[in-house]
Amino acid sequence: MTQERRVALVTGASRGIGRAIAHELGRQGRIVVGTATSESGAEKIDADLKAHGVEGAGMCLNVTDPASIDQVLKAIGERFGAPTILVNNAGITRDNLLMRMKEDEWDSVMDTNLKSVYRVSKACLRGMTKARFGRIVSISSVVATMGNLGQTNYAAAKAGMEGFSRALAREVASRAITVNAVAPGFIATDMTEALPEAQHEMLLKQIPLSRLGGPEEIAAAVGFLTSDAAGYITGETLHVNGGMNM
Ligand code: NAD
Repeated sequence: MTQERRVALVTGASRGIGRAIAHELGRQGRIVVGTATSESGAEKIDADLKAHGVEGAGMCLNVTDPASIDQVLKAIGERFGAPTILVNNAGITRDNLLMRMKEDEWDSVMDTNLKSVYRVSKACLRGMTKARFGRIVSISSVVATMGNLGQTNYAAAKAGMEGFSRALAREVASRAITVNAVAPGFIATDMTEALPEAQHEMLLKQIPLSRLGGPEEIAAAVGFLTSDAAGYITGETLHVNGGMNM
């Protein structure tokens, strides 16, 4: 298989970091399937990829639903061939201090941000094993190493994702499949837009580069880790955080 024909699956590509990753992988010549949680979102991704000259498609996927994952992988397989690049990007926050955190706030973050990584990675492994090539990159967070108040659920899920990546990296290395994480600091997207102004100001003081990152700066790291040039890097977390944690 030539590098140009590789199929990349990017979960949660309707906006923010996932959308930038879809564009970057397209720019590198991948066939890109970007997913949204609704049919209308999938159509928007479809149009967006076309507008950016990227071959691929938008598809509807809920990473918390095993049936939805099976359906999407079947559709990708039939249309483009099995993905050999997977970017586990879909994620949510349900912030609350632990004293007040409800079980459903804990469970929904674990399910969407961590169990999904188990589900989707597992579902993609067969195709990667057959191709004897694979790149799995999961989008973690600086919060996995630094912690953040109100985010015990999110920090646990992201730290879990990094541990998962190291364990899986050992399991699949003999098949030339690499498994890594990218840990963004604070990036200008809908997720950080939701932060109160005061928290925003406080955040900037903690970032040596004195600005939020751009989604395309995370996409560049993912583009590198999914490239042939990064074939000797596995089980690693690449930190992209403006020096916030060093
Ligand atoms: P965003 O909220 O703009 O996008 C999240 C994406 O995930 C959306 O496309 C959404 O539809 C999708 N998604 C949510 N639930 C889903 C589900 N059940 N099934 C499928 N897709 C689902 O967020 P973003 O800022 O672009 O974040 C992308 C990733 O980067 C997340 O994993 C997030 O935790 C991580 N991250 C973001 C920042 C930041 O500062 N923005 C920092 C560190 C890590």
